[in-house]
Amino acid sequence: MPAEATAPPVLELRKLTRTHGAGIAEVHALRGVDLSVRAGELVAVMGPSGSGKSTLLTLAGGLDTASAGQVIIEGQDIGSLNRKQLSALRRRSVGYVFQDYNLIPALTAAENIALPRELDGVSVRKARKEARDALSRMKLDEVADRFPDEMSGGQQQRVAIARALVGDRRLVLADEPTGALDSETGETVLAMLRARCDAGAAGVMVTHEPRYAAWADRVVFLRDGSVVDQTFSADAQSLLSAEGAK
Ligand code: ADP
Ligand code: MG
Repeated sequence: MPAEATAPPVLELRKLTRTHGAGIAEVHALRGVDLSVRAGELVAVMGPSGSGKSTLLTLAGGLDTASAGQVIIEGQDIGSLNRKQLSALRRRSVGYVFQDYNLIPALTAAENIALPRELDGVSVRKARKEARDALSRMKLDEVADRFPDEMSGGQQQRVAIARALVGDRRLVLADEPTGALDSETGETVLAMLRARCDAGAAGVMVTHEPRYAAWADRVVFLRDGSVVDQTFSADAQSLLSAEGAK
């Protein structure tokens, strides 16, 4: 068996459940989802609005706490970590692309990308160089010294992606990372995510677009907080066109 088939998954979700509110107002955002993502794998998550896609991602990234079940990142059950350990794990192991980018308004593009690295102990000089290199790969050299409100939505989105991809983090989570991008830029971003996974990261990406999901090894479909279908790359195209025809 190849080594990667026996290595523990980078991300493992076990019976992951998230409930909001109580009684008559109770909302089951996620109902006992199991999912494993190994190094080298890119998984696309699709499903209607409100099906639990963002909930799955925020729980997987340790940004929200499960009502029940477990999130295991690189063999560590994140529910057993204290706040400080969890922040350290998130900075070191998780690259997160937020749906609304979450760039810090008071920092330039380069500073936004460098900050998590500096917090993790990388020298300012090295972190700034990494940031500029990442911007360059995104063909965004010209925005390095601009603040978020001086950039277009598409530029901010790519800065957010560059921030998630610096530092070789093992787990990359992206919530609709192509929402504000034209199709050519979207393909460039997907190629970069794919390359990151081919280089050993595990990736989970929420998308509505079959053409972006086609870059994934596996597509997981959510409905009402449950996984209703899963398909592997060879069958993804036919299943996606069937979904589209519904
Ligand atoms: P998606 O990303 O697939 O559109 P979400 O994960 O954002 O779906 O939401 C799943 C369900 O959980 C939805 O019904 C949503 O209204 C509900 N939900 C999400 N966050 C909260 C919250 N903070 N309070 C109450 N309900 C929430
Ligand atoms: Mg969402």
